[in-house]
Amino acid sequence: MKAPAAKGKASQLTRSRLAHRASGPTMSYLKTRIRASRLYQAAFILAIVELTRRLHQAYRQAYDKHAADQLLPQNPQGDVDLSPAQRKVVEYINTLAKGLMNNKDCREYIQDGPESDFRITNAIERLAWLEKNRGITYFHGMEFNNGSGLAISAVRGTYTGFGRSSPRIVPGYYFFTEDVGRVTEYWRIDRDQARLLVILHELRHDVTRSPDSGPPGGAESGDGHSQAILKKCLGLVTEIPKQ
Ligand SMILES: [Zn+2]
Repeated sequence: MKAPAAKGKASQLTRSRLAHRASGPTMSYLKTRIRASRLYQAAFILAIVELTRRLHQAYRQAYDKHAADQLLPQNPQGDVDLSPAQRKVVEYINTLAKGLMNNKDCREYIQDGPESDFRITNAIERLAWLEKNRGITYFHGMEFNNGSGLAISAVRGTYTGFGRSSPRIVPGYYFFTEDVGRVTEYWRIDRDQARLLVILHELRHDVTRSPDSGPPGGAESGDGHSQAILKKCLGLVTEIPKQ
């Protein structure tokens, strides 16, 4: 799950725009500056769009069962077993998560269908299995893959069935911080709710074998999935925050 970006930059930008509008005599100089900064912004947005497109491509390819081994280094910087203290935190959150998934709406969203369908893995059983079988590990960092941006957590491992790298949920450094890498402030939830959201979000990726996709803010984006989990599992109706 991606880490929410800091808000400071946006408000600085607004302030500097207002300052430009208010001043008089040095207008042409300012206009030039505004134009330059708009150009810069446009280039920046293009770069982001391109990056997002490439990331999605990369995800699609990575999730292709045959390509997974070659395209994504499975253990680029190494995730490790949870420390006893981390394990305590994770087990506490998992207990809450399993409780929430007793609710059918929540469970069927996480596992993407009813468990009466033989193709569907029961998400409660899956989480219990992961917890018991070193399927939840720790990554001491924030950037899980080179250039992928900061994240709270990820899923790792291949789904090729060769057992070289078993699928697992990997909370990173942010997960264990007080504000869970700003997830608390982003969704206006408390620390345990934020950690629950992270675990359920990654569990859904693990069980459904599908990545976040689609345009940012859409139902299939990372935020869209998180919003649905907050609603169906935690009973919280939220807007996707504007970045
Ligand atoms: Zn995600």
